[in-house]
Amino acid sequence: MNPQRRQLLQAGAASLLAAPLFVRHARAADVPRFALGVASGQPRADRLVLWTRLTGIDLPPSVPVQWELSHDEAFTDIVARGTETAEAAWAHSVHAEPSALGPGRWYWYRFSALGQRSPAGRTRTAPADDAAATLQFAIASCQRWDHGHYAAWRHMATQPLDLVMFLGDYIYEYPSPPDALRRVDGPLLRTLAQYRERYAQYKSDEALQAAHAAFPWLVIWDDHEVENDHSRERGQTLSGAAFQALRAAAYQAWWEHMPVAKAMRPTFSPAGPSLRLYDRFHWGRLARIHALDDRQYRDPHACPPLLRPGGSQVIMAVDCAELQDPQRSLLGFEQERWLAEGWDLQRPWNLLAQQTLMARLSRQAVTGPNTGEFWTDGWDGYAPSRTRLLGAVAERRVPNMVVLGGDVHAHYVADLKLDFDDPKSPVLASEFCGTSISSHGPSQKQVNQRLRLNPHVHHGRGDQRGYIGFTLDERALQATLMVVDRPNDATSPVRADVRFAVEAGRPGPQRA
Ligand code: FE
Ligand code: CA
Repeated sequence: MNPQRRQLLQAGAASLLAAPLFVRHARAADVPRFALGVASGQPRADRLVLWTRLTGIDLPPSVPVQWELSHDEAFTDIVARGTETAEAAWAHSVHAEPSALGPGRWYWYRFSALGQRSPAGRTRTAPADDAAATLQFAIASCQRWDHGHYAAWRHMATQPLDLVMFLGDYIYEYPSPPDALRRVDGPLLRTLAQYRERYAQYKSDEALQAAHAAFPWLVIWDDHEVENDHSRERGQTLSGAAFQALRAAAYQAWWEHMPVAKAMRPTFSPAGPSLRLYDRFHWGRLARIHALDDRQYRDPHACPPLLRPGGSQVIMAVDCAELQDPQRSLLGFEQERWLAEGWDLQRPWNLLAQQTLMARLSRQAVTGPNTGEFWTDGWDGYAPSRTRLLGAVAERRVPNMVVLGGDVHAHYVADLKLDFDDPKSPVLASEFCGTSISSHGPSQKQVNQRLRLNPHVHHGRGDQRGYIGFTLDERALQATLMVVDRPNDATSPVRADVRFAVEAGRPGPQRA
């Protein structure tokens, strides 16, 4: 090593060693402690969850964090307050759970720690279980950072919503290509520290923070919170203990960054991590919301690609008998039973918040049994699981079941039937699959071809980014498919594209 370079390195090392003490004293008061914003979620009639995560590299191992919940924005009418301990072991995340709250009310909340106060967030409780209610909500999914800006969130944050349902792909695990619109830091995610850093980068976005601060969210995950197209036991590249370790890191980071209950904190065992995600929520006497987990318990993909432990592909039905195997499940048999036994037969609406498109979407003509071509990661890869679910809906005469999904980066509106190829098979339920917030989608040419081959799918747009806004009352569900004009522009306008409605008692979306 030449002497000059050695000197430079030594000087660098010396200043690194000397810096922390100085930095701690000089900057502690200036380091933003709430740089990731605030969030709330899982609203019930008497309680909800408030979230934040402290920031700064100089945080002590544990920090007391005060929270307060108020009836008013000026925080003069405080309803509840408390202290939580933010611990380094859980990334200094805070999950506060005010309870014994009044039903059907809006609240404001904020945190303080280390001499700083967070921005205020707005949230609400669900209406009382027996109260008449209406619900305005949005579904969103797939916000790949390096594929586009978050104009959809910016717009949504200004809308009069009660609730946001986020249906998966909050982060993506990939590194950014050199020519990305805006790059993520870090490599392909493999460690807890890397997952945490990725969440922190996504959550640094102002528009996303605004959407969290404006309404409570119900959050479920899909594949990219861990790794693309994984099943309960393997990913595309990892299996066995290495995959379970990846899943453990990913589950922990997810919990640390989401407005979900402390009881959902993951537990770890040699067999793998577990985090009970699937759950039910009620919106007065209007709706039961079933939130599903189609990743944690799913059987490995049928007929995985050659030379890979797992993962999906598009395959002709005739080449993959496993697709029809009734022993395979997308939800796992325990969750399937929980769902089949939990349909609400009193409330007028059952909303199924889940990850992906449920409607059959063949890419080749279906001319009889064992024909057609299917993507093995979605419900088409687990068709008997779908048949069991829809069979229970038919058998129990579940009123007004509406499936909400994401994952496929396209707006789809569809009828759900037991037999998609029999025009006489009755429509059992309605489906709205929302396009991505920012992740790139399939070409419209491909989507148009799929629409021709699958007549139960009424509408499909792969070339649009956005979300779906809904208004629900006892008589009808109104859906407005929202579209971002310029996904590469953070300030792009967002407009209503098309509208559909489902009338209570008449399954199937109608163009409105
Ligand atoms: Fe996605
Ligand atoms: Ca996905």
